[in-house]
Amino acid sequence: MAQETIFSKIIRREIPADIVFQDDKVTAFRDISPQAPTHILIIPNKLIPTINDITEQDEMLLGHMVIVVAKIAKQEGIDESGYRLIMNCNKDAGQEVFHIHMHLLGGKNLGRLVG
Ligand code: AMP
Repeated sequence: MAQETIFSKIIRREIPADIVFQDDKVTAFRDISPQAPTHILIIPNKLIPTINDITEQDEMLLGHMVIVVAKIAKQEGIDESGYRLIMNCNKDAGQEVFHIHMHLLGGKNLGRLVG
């Protein structure tokens, strides 16, 4: 059984978070330690610990998460200026919370990630 994280409490609104979007599948809230003017985490309401645990049954859910990202980017006014979407998996990527999440970062020039 996967272990719940603090993110499950945020989904259930048991601890405070700046939630910017929520529906029956997905919750999005501002990162507590923002790395850019806009830094929002988009998470599935269902607990999936890492990208490695995603199954084909989650295809629609992952697609929905990306659609939500695009909606939030527009809401934040960064859809045209641009943004970066990051998912960390396990130790080498520095994953700290084992409930998959997309980092939506924008609101400034983020520089090149690679190359
Ligand atoms: P990662 O390193 O990809 O696992 O990212 C975890 C992210 O969760 C970090 O950017 C943290 O700042 C963020 N975080 C941890 N706890 C909270 C919280 N209670 N509310 C909002 N963001 C959080």
